[in-house]
Amino acid sequence: MNLRPALSDLLVYLKEIGYEDLYLSPRRAAASAVAVPEVPRAVIAAAPPDEATATRLAELSALATAASACTRCRLAEGRRTVVFSSGNPAADLMLVGEVPGPEEDRQGIPFVGPAGELLNKILQAIDLRREDVYIANVVKCRPPGNRDPQPEEVAACRGYLDKQIALVRPKLLVALGKVAAQALLGDDGPIGRLRGQWHQARGIPTMVTYHPAALLRNPALKRPTWEDMQQVRDRLREIG
Ligand code: URA
Repeated sequence: MNLRPALSDLLVYLKEIGYEDLYLSPRRAAASAVAVPEVPRAVIAAAPPDEATATRLAELSALATAASACTRCRLAEGRRTVVFSSGNPAADLMLVGEVPGPEEDRQGIPFVGPAGELLNKILQAIDLRREDVYIANVVKCRPPGNRDPQPEEVAACRGYLDKQIALVRPKLLVALGKVAAQALLGDDGPIGRLRGQWHQARGIPTMVTYHPAALLRNPALKRPTWEDMQQVRDRLREIG
C-alpha cells in the first residue's frame, strides 16, 4: 500500500482537521490536481505541525483512503460508507468503539446516533469535547441488522485499528464495551471484570468501560462508567 500521499492531499487533510491558514503556494496550486480556493499571499499563518507529525497525519489520511475502498470482508457488500474515524488525530486520548450503526453508516462518522449523543455527554462530564479526542471503531463497516461483528470481520479490520493506534500515538486508550476490550486486550473476560481498571494495549494504558449503548439500555451502568471516566480524566491531568 502506498502511504505517501501528495503534498496537496496532506494540505487538504490538514485544513479538514482545523488548520485554517494553510494554503498551497500559487506555483504548487497550479501543479496540483486538487482544487484549492483562491490563494492568498500568506503561506502558513498557523503554527504548522512538525515534519514527523505531518507525515503521521498524511499516512492516516492515506490509510482512510485505502479503507474507503476496502473489500477484505463481506461487510463491504452491505455498507453505505466505511466509518473510519473522527476527531483529533493528534489527540492524547483515543476512544475505541465496536461497529457503526445505521446513522454512522449513513453519515460516515462514528458515534453520531443515540449512543454517540450519550458519548458526547460522557466526554463533556470530563471536560472534553469530541474534537479533543480521536474516535474509531474496531470494525469500520456496519454489520447487517446491527448484529455483533463476527470474529473473521474483526480479524479483517484489525490492521486498520492497529495502524490508527500506531499513527495517532495516543497517550491513553479507552475501550468502549466488550468487543473493543477483547480486540485491544485479547482478553475475552466479562466486561464487568475488565472495566474500571487500567490495562495495557500496544504498550498504551487502556481503560475499559461500558459501551454507551449499554447505558441506554441499562441506566444503572451510568454510575460505574462515570467512575471509570473520572479515572481517565485524572490520568490525563497527570500526563499534562
Ligand atoms: N456504536 C459503536 O460502537 N460505534 C459507533 O460508531 C456507533 C455505535
